[in-house]
Amino acid sequence: MALDKSILEHYMKLDQRDSVQVMYIWIDGTGEYLRSKTKTLNFEPKSPSDCPVWNFDGSSTGQSSGDNSDVYLHPVALFNDPFRGGKNKLLLCETYASNHTPTRSNKRHSCVAVMKEAREAHPWFGIEQEYILLDADGQVLGWPKGGFPAPQGPYYCSVGTGRVFGRDVAEAHYRACLYAGLDIAGTNAEVMPGQWEFQIGPCEGVEMGDQLWVARYLLNRVAEDFAVIVTLDPKPKPGDWNGSGAHCNFSTKAMREDGGIEHIRTAIKKMSKCHVEHIKVYDPKGGKDNERRLTGLHETASIHDFSFGVAHRGASIRIPRQVDEDGKGYFEDRRPASNCDPYEVTERLVKTIVLNQ
Ligand code: ADP
Ligand code: MN
Ligand code: MN
Ligand code: MN
Repeated sequence: MALDKSILEHYMKLDQRDSVQVMYIWIDGTGEYLRSKTKTLNFEPKSPSDCPVWNFDGSSTGQSSGDNSDVYLHPVALFNDPFRGGKNKLLLCETYASNHTPTRSNKRHSCVAVMKEAREAHPWFGIEQEYILLDADGQVLGWPKGGFPAPQGPYYCSVGTGRVFGRDVAEAHYRACLYAGLDIAGTNAEVMPGQWEFQIGPCEGVEMGDQLWVARYLLNRVAEDFAVIVTLDPKPKPGDWNGSGAHCNFSTKAMREDGGIEHIRTAIKKMSKCHVEHIKVYDPKGGKDNERRLTGLHETASIHDFSFGVAHRGASIRIPRQVDEDGKGYFEDRRPASNCDPYEVTERLVKTIVLNQ
């Protein structure tokens, strides 16, 4: 049931006096889904450390048992709240168990340590987040009830009724990201009808994970307003329909400087030697989700093989044409699934390429 959103407008215009609403956001026990709850502060926080550590009932989020249920929320990144506006904030948090160790789905904790060790290399990331919209019944947005749309071909970057579905969601999300202060690089309609992409980056170090998780939070909140569902399942429709990825573009300072292509080639050689280790952390199920997506068809490489190529969209790693021409820049790792944890993906890349671990 969709509530009439216009009724809310009256209440949102009421003066909130000197209070600031801070939406604490965290990744739940699945490692895939987000949760959030609000705290009132009597001042406007300027940085995450201005915000108090808080807690929640981890037994309701798959993060603790009922007899020892409190899980701590440690504030780590602060953004403007595009839904409540004004001084109100979104606050991304890490989760810690009662003994103050990171919870199982807190992948940020180790990512921070790795990024710290590699900071001299100035690792930059840009992630392309693909997603598919479903209507409230779980049908892909724009697909005929009980049937299929015309085959893929006209939908990527398309315009026009019958070709593009759910543009309002992508538009609202784009503006919400800008308002929040995220480095959203762009957006486009994707190959499968009802599928979209947005890109976050370039971001340095752990900020990649922080920004992408908050962008996912915004997308889910915007989708609520349109009564549609966002799915990050990497292959919701088997058959001749594209799946969803989270291509991770990567560079170090050395790769971005003249002659950097040599550093890119060295990085690819290192990655070719630990394909399996990467695949293990490129979806939340140790590779099981990506098995359905990385088939070697639909602009993917087989999950079993490592490959690379210039401008090659059927390879694990693509060197963009422009990068090859310039002799410097970045490469694209096409393997991460749409529902990957960006903290795990970026940590793995830096371990392999910068730290030789
Ligand atoms: P594609 O051609 O694969 O669809 P996109 O334009 O969707 O590529 O995304 C490219 C991504 O690469 C963006 O997120 C952008 O921020 C990122 N990017 C650009 N330059 C760099 C760089 N030097 N290092 C890392 N990421 C980069
Ligand atoms: Mn793209
Ligand atoms: Mn894409
Ligand atoms: Mn791409």
